[in-house]
Amino acid sequence: MARAEDEVLTPPLDVEAVRAEFPILSRTVHGKPLVYLDSAASAQRPRCVIDATSRFYSEYNANVHRGVHQLSVEASEAFERSRQLVRDGLNASSEREIVFTRGATEAINLVAQAWARPRLRPGDEIIVSTMEHHSNIVPWQLVCEQTGAVLKPAPINDRGELRVDELEALITDRTKLIGLVHVSNALGTVNPVERVCAMARERGIVTVIDGCQALPHTAVDVRAIGCDFYAFSAHKMYGPTGIGALYGRESLLEAMPPWQGGGEMILRVSFEGTTYNELPHKFEAGTPNIAGAIGMGAAFEFLDRIGIDAIAAHEQDLLTYATERMQAIDGLRILGTAEHKGPVISFVVDGAHANDIGTIVDHFGVALRTGHHCAMPVMQFFDVPATARVSFGCYTTRAEIDTFLDALNHARTMLA
Ligand code: PMP
Repeated sequence: MARAEDEVLTPPLDVEAVRAEFPILSRTVHGKPLVYLDSAASAQRPRCVIDATSRFYSEYNANVHRGVHQLSVEASEAFERSRQLVRDGLNASSEREIVFTRGATEAINLVAQAWARPRLRPGDEIIVSTMEHHSNIVPWQLVCEQTGAVLKPAPINDRGELRVDELEALITDRTKLIGLVHVSNALGTVNPVERVCAMARERGIVTVIDGCQALPHTAVDVRAIGCDFYAFSAHKMYGPTGIGALYGRESLLEAMPPWQGGGEMILRVSFEGTTYNELPHKFEAGTPNIAGAIGMGAAFEFLDRIGIDAIAAHEQDLLTYATERMQAIDGLRILGTAEHKGPVISFVVDGAHANDIGTIVDHFGVALRTGHHCAMPVMQFFDVPATARVSFGCYTTRAEIDTFLDALNHARTMLA
């Protein structure tokens, strides 16, 4: 197809230069070079993220906000600068819409407890897809128990794609909230989040998108998606563990009560009554994960510097390469063959348990994940107890996929 003159071509990713930024990639495992194919569970960290967190501890460690001394001022500035980086990374309208949390799980629980719990009445309905991570199922089950609301699963097809028409058919005038994963960690499916959010918005239904597996692989624009809430964890996108954020539309956050009480989230406390802090601090009780937040900001800068479009193109190439080679293997079945996928391949092999495959390939230095991937309803749908899963990041190479496939062949021979 001819390109328009003003169309910008994405320069290819310099994978070796990217790899050089990740110290861990030079280590060996069982005497073999590490082949890390478990980025969907947790990505590795580049030097800039490691340095940003260690600089905080070694140069300006102090508690944030409230402090008048220099270290506290510097820590507060760096902490709030990260919030701006997250706002820019998601294209949110304001930092008031960015609440720091421990990760996606806490972000979704926050919505469940502070938005849903005070509003839901017995018989109200929440819809989530069948391919959700447990963190976008269980918080809703809890809030249903607390309020008498009902949780309805929206089905997927044999390729692991959301059946949007069936989701639409589930909507009634009692539907108050729809939760949907942007990119499935178990199947790789990229969901039509814009379409589902538009469908919900027309009917006044609130939307919660789980963006854990989207941010490391694709540009995310919460305003273009049109969601009300967007949750993610930094450790999937090259940032630290134990930190993430919830984007929430300001008008909704404003109307929500705090969900945890303590320091930071108040303006004034007395036994006669307490006034809560401004957004987003109202939802950030207690001393936050300061180093984590600063590292998360560095991770957004890293993605920006490397270029998310270049990363996406590189990972899609790996996905196509690995998928084609794996499809040629006798007795191997890929679960999740959606038209639009992130760089995740879940698979089962006839006669071999996923855990045995994982253990054998580990001896070749290959790290992959086995199990239910915190998505048991997906396993039930495909009628398997577990899958093995390889997932790729900006540092993954075709040569690593070849090493994995050789190791997999050994495993198949041993287990046959
Ligand atoms: N959603 C998805 C799609 C995920 O992949 C994960 C992590 N596996 C989570 C939610 C939960 O993330 P965390 O445990 O960091 O809160």
